[in-house]
Amino acid sequence: MKAAIITIGDELLIGQTVDTNSAWIGAELSKSGFDVFRIISIHDRREDIIYSLNEVTGQADVVLITGGLGPTSDDITKQTLCEFFNTRLITDHEVLRMVEEMMLRRNFSMNENNRHQADVPESCRVLKNAAGTAPGMWFEKDGTIYISMPGVPIEMKYLMTEHVLPELKKRFRSQVIIHRNIMTFGMFEAKLAEMLTGFEADLPENIKLAYLPASGIIKLRLTATGTDFDSLSDMVNIQVNKLYKTIPEFIYGENEESLEMVIGKLLKKKNKSVCTAESCTGGEIAHLLTSIPGCSDYYNGSVVAYANSAKVQILGVKKELIEIYGAVSEEVVREMATGARSLFKTDYALATSGIAGPDGGTDSKPVGTLWMAVASEKEIISEKMQFGSDRNTNIKRFSLTALNLLRKQIINT
Ligand code: AMP
Ligand code: MG
Repeated sequence: MKAAIITIGDELLIGQTVDTNSAWIGAELSKSGFDVFRIISIHDRREDIIYSLNEVTGQADVVLITGGLGPTSDDITKQTLCEFFNTRLITDHEVLRMVEEMMLRRNFSMNENNRHQADVPESCRVLKNAAGTAPGMWFEKDGTIYISMPGVPIEMKYLMTEHVLPELKKRFRSQVIIHRNIMTFGMFEAKLAEMLTGFEADLPENIKLAYLPASGIIKLRLTATGTDFDSLSDMVNIQVNKLYKTIPEFIYGENEESLEMVIGKLLKKKNKSVCTAESCTGGEIAHLLTSIPGCSDYYNGSVVAYANSAKVQILGVKKELIEIYGAVSEEVVREMATGARSLFKTDYALATSGIAGPDGGTDSKPVGTLWMAVASEKEIISEKMQFGSDRNTNIKRFSLTALNLLRKQIINT
């Protein structure tokens, strides 16, 4: 069950329109058990369309095509499909009636271009498009199915949902694909891959592992293919359990869970609260925590103590500590956490102080230095980390790293 996607449109190649059709179709086909092995984006150009169709023919069971079906002369998909399938355009009277009705409803008069929308290749089966004027077209040739749809996302989704996916599911019932994402934080990709060498080598043939990194979070995706959902699901569960045993300290959640979601769940479960005191992260941690609905149950507030005076006056950090050790130091960040905890009267307080860059670093405290602390009733813990020089990347990384320290401390205390 192999599928290819071809998206047609000049706008896709010059960066004017992002190809969201491929992503959507890919996700839907994958859920239905198809292996999407190729996505191709091309110009509205006859030779490129023919070349791409030839390229995937023979390998694909299904080819999904979007774009180039508009009523104007720049859209040439229909004529080119006629050439590829060795057929000619004929008028589909049912489609013509639908286009006429739609134009009438909108108070527009029909012109020649509108009438051309009802011209379809003689050898295709027409897929009625209630979301627009250009119909979808279903072709079959030498055992391969080719489906051409308009590029307008809402029309493509209508045709896929109403016609294409139900029919494909009926025709290709045999295969099941399960994706399972395990979320990790705190270890870079190359090292994680080294730790998982044995795990990967022992994976059954039908289960594949992929690494998807973003801002320090690495999503490990297990993709399993089989014929029976229940037994495949059991197989995946065995592998997930093995992953938990192999890298327990780095897994924080599953599927699309974020660190802030997991922290919210933990705090709710333990009936505990948290506040934040942020210097270098400038409120980013507060933003992340408050992006979770229902966070008022456990999140009390934040002090963005950027200037030294704010650290002293609002959080009660001793002025001498800043003078002796500097604002980016273990001593100061611990006091920031303690000060915030007593100000907001929470169970936990998370504090950050660092140098986001691009300037402001010294030999002993280079750009990318982060000090973070978590205060709780039992203890104050603090940790130092070193990152790169890009300011925005640092703010994001600092925030996630600090949230991960908080997460571990909530679990441990
Ligand atoms: P078309 O069917 O080629 O006339 O496409 C009509 C419109 O749909 C274009 O102007 C784009 O804005 C949009 N579109 C076309 N292809 C895509 C695609 N692959 N992803 C997202 N939008 C698209
Ligand atoms: Mg177009």
